[in-house]
Amino acid sequence: MSCDEIKPLLNARLDDEIDPVKRADFDAHVKTCSSCAEDLEGLESVRHSIRGRLNKKTFYRSSLRCLGVRVTHSAACRHRQPA
Ligand SMILES: [Zn+2]
Repeated sequence: MSCDEIKPLLNARLDDEIDPVKRADFDAHVKTCSSCAEDLEGLESVRHSIRGRLNKKTFYRSSLRCLGVRVTHSAACRHRQPA
């Protein structure tokens, strides 16, 4: 396999979406080719950071929801207190 054949398969390899025969060729090439290995590593770290950001966004949204519940709750409490 040549580098030109490897590059279009980088995403598929990370998704485990290439057939086993090609994957063996792919892995053998990446082991001996630092350029493709770097590309694969770079792509992987980009994916990790995107996933991390998504997780943080979900976390942020769920903590906002908690905050909203708490605000509504304390407002309701204040209304119940005698003036
Ligand atoms: Zn290569």
